Amino acid sequence: NISPSRRAIRQLDETASNRIAAGEVVERPASAIKELVENALDAGATRIGVEIADGGKTLIRVTDDGHGIPREELKLALSRHATSKIDGTDLLNIHSFGFRGEALPSIGAVARLRIASRVSEGEAWELNVNGGKLGEVAPCSLRGGTVVEVRDLFHATPARLKFLRSDRAENQAISDVLKRLALAAPDVAFTLTDTGTGKTTFKVERHQGDLIDAHLARMEAILGRDFATNALVIDAEREGITLTGFAALPTYSRGAAVAQFLFVNGRPVRDKVLLGALRAAYSDFLSRDRHPAACLFLTCDPERVDVNVHPAKTEVRFREPGIARGLIVSGLRHALAGAGHRASTTVSD
Ligand code: ADP
Ligand code: MG
Repeated sequence: NISPSRRAIRQLDETASNRIAAGEVVERPASAIKELVENALDAGATRIGVEIADGGKTLIRVTDDGHGIPREELKLALSRHATSKIDGTDLLNIHSFGFRGEALPSIGAVARLRIASRVSEGEAWELNVNGGKLGEVAPCSLRGGTVVEVRDLFHATPARLKFLRSDRAENQAISDVLKRLALAAPDVAFTLTDTGTGKTTFKVERHQGDLIDAHLARMEAILGRDFATNALVIDAEREGITLTGFAALPTYSRGAAVAQFLFVNGRPVRDKVLLGALRAAYSDFLSRDRHPAACLFLTCDPERVDVNVHPAKTEVRFREPGIARGLIVSGLRHALAGAGHRASTTVSD
């Protein structure tokens, strides 16, 4: 066997390390959109517009009306590990979607990125980044908030480009990401427009007022009237963790696990433990080949869940997973056993 000759250890430059990080954070257009929309939500946006072309491969543009970024911080926003969201001393107390300061520099390392932003007492400024190379901050025109444009995603990493699927498949993944984020933020309006066809493929209005009503209205707008009329209202609590949301009647089950939406402190997650609990809760009511439909929100003190376990932040770890699991199982069983009330009867119709 051939032993390779040893090479000296060297520090990778910023562009190379950003590209490597980008491989973990941004897998496809949908994951870039997830990061940009989460940034808009973290900035307190009430309206978020997403425009795409060619399945997001040639263009992604996310526009928000959030608090914006001041001129002197624009370059910092594009630097690795720079964030306004945590101070680094308390990784167990995270209230925002973001906290790693990796999304913008990662996307900027593998695409042509333009960010334009304006804070309420300032002018509008823009910055371009191409394959990790920062341009100069320049004045631009913008009414407020932030616009991030991502062109030719992965042009700087052709290997990754090859793994992208058809426009149709990428579009599907994008609308799935937006649906999940929109389900958890009923007070924010979202649109998704394909600039190629000019068609708006997804649009939901802001729902304000009572939280349960707002969630129900949003759920109906996204998952359909049918889901809403077949859903039970869930509202349970165990040792400081609350479970709210909607669980469909067993008769509304699906042949595949396509209608399962789980959120932990407002963050969409695909968590095996929680999905397993959902399945277990329905085990007495469904045959093995049927899958329950549900939209569930777990809420607790951020200190009780670690969100820093997955690059794309889609997995979480509860400090006491047994409590979360038990809460889902007992909360849903209780509702399914007949004590729950229908979601649709709570809407004024
Ligand atoms: P993170 O979200 O983890 O902080 P990002 O790379 O996504 O890291 O963003 C870096 C910083 O840029 C954020 O901490 C935030 O201060 C700022 N930022 C990014 N997008 C927006 C936006 N849409 N509106 C306001 N500020 C933003
Ligand atoms: Mg972010």
